[in-house]
Amino acid sequence: MEPDGRSAPDAVATGLDRTDPLRAYRDEFIGADGAIVYFDGNSLGRPPRASATRLEQFVHEQWGGRLIRGWDESWMQLPFEIGDAIGRAAIGAAAGQTVVGDSTTVLLYKLLRAAFDAAQAEDHARVELVVDRDNFPTDRYLVEGIAAERGGRVRWIEVDTAAGVTAEAVRSAVGPETAIVLLSHVAYRSGYLADAASLTRIAQDAGALVVWDLCHSAGSVPIEADAWGFDLAVGCTYKYLNGGPGSPAFAYVATRHQATLTQPIQGWMGADDVFAMGPAYRPAEGMRRFLSGTPPIVGMLALQDTLALIERAGIASIRAKSIALTEFAIDLTDEWLTPLGVTVASPRDPRLRGGHVTLSHLQMRAVTARLWAEDVIPDYRDPGGLRIGLAPLTTSFAETEHGMRAVRDALRDLAG
Ligand SMILES: *Cc1c(COP(=O)(O)O)cnc(C)c1O
Repeated sequence: MEPDGRSAPDAVATGLDRTDPLRAYRDEFIGADGAIVYFDGNSLGRPPRASATRLEQFVHEQWGGRLIRGWDESWMQLPFEIGDAIGRAAIGAAAGQTVVGDSTTVLLYKLLRAAFDAAQAEDHARVELVVDRDNFPTDRYLVEGIAAERGGRVRWIEVDTAAGVTAEAVRSAVGPETAIVLLSHVAYRSGYLADAASLTRIAQDAGALVVWDLCHSAGSVPIEADAWGFDLAVGCTYKYLNGGPGSPAFAYVATRHQATLTQPIQGWMGADDVFAMGPAYRPAEGMRRFLSGTPPIVGMLALQDTLALIERAGIASIRAKSIALTEFAIDLTDEWLTPLGVTVASPRDPRLRGGHVTLSHLQMRAVTARLWAEDVIPDYRDPGGLRIGLAPLTTSFAETEHGMRAVRDALRDLAG
């Protein structure tokens, strides 16, 4: 046994860790050297060490020392500065198109409704909102809600979860009645990685506006929002961007759309002149119009530390390690878990896979409960899906091996 109570990793995992160019990054995160196997960095990333210092300093110096002056001095600009940093480090967006705002759900609502209204204003025949059946619940619920609220119609894309949303599926779902299309870049359940550039083009060629959900891709998969011609996008910051529980989401709106979109939650922080407190709402120029109320400053602080690390490591190296980790987990699955009846519910081709792997077995709910009690922390997603999230900056190969061995032992015990 190792000092931390884990059994020693075999030579393969040890070798992969030794030659991992990103291995030093684990030291930058609290707990990454501990005994817990963390397979959920795609749901809630670990805290960067620098964030502990940053938060403490903020309380003492900024909040405590500057008090209300902090808004004028720096906080009013922070949602835009951090937005630009996300654009630079993670999503390939030039400055002035990304802002940190509300939760993913609320930002998605605002952008989806703004886009639907803009499409309708241009052409009344465009009444359809296209979304896939396998999309995240919040995404599907929002689309249904907006359709009901605005007299639109939902057009569902049926999905083979192992194959994801294909070009063919999008092509046959869009047409002269499509207003907007909402897609996830990496599917939260299967980990399927969509070809965002070509799906965007297909929907735009049919005259639709596309909204990308980047929750499971930002920080782990290369994204080129500008080069791929994105219209709009929203993404989480508490997953691979390690912003902390409930840290606010970001919204991307391509410059060409900013002046024509008006979002539905008209608040003073999105108004033309915030402190004029004028009689009527006039939306601000640029990204400020997508804000509504007072920005959640404390919640967006930590995010800056992971963005700095991502910029330093480079998203290409992060993606390379992500692929190596998921390949390793799938190899161990084939060796240890397939004989126990487990199937891989994620694409086997790494080009079609994001940063997590989902394994199917009827016992996975019970397996997850047992693993959590043993400090091995994956996620469970119905039906029977064990989700192994591998965060390239914080997960090691030895940790992955240890966790996979624990899955095997749990399945064996539950069967026996
Ligand atoms: C995590 C996730 C969300 C979460 O939305 P919140 O408003 O932050 O709860 C939404 N969509 C997708 C695809 C996600 O993975």
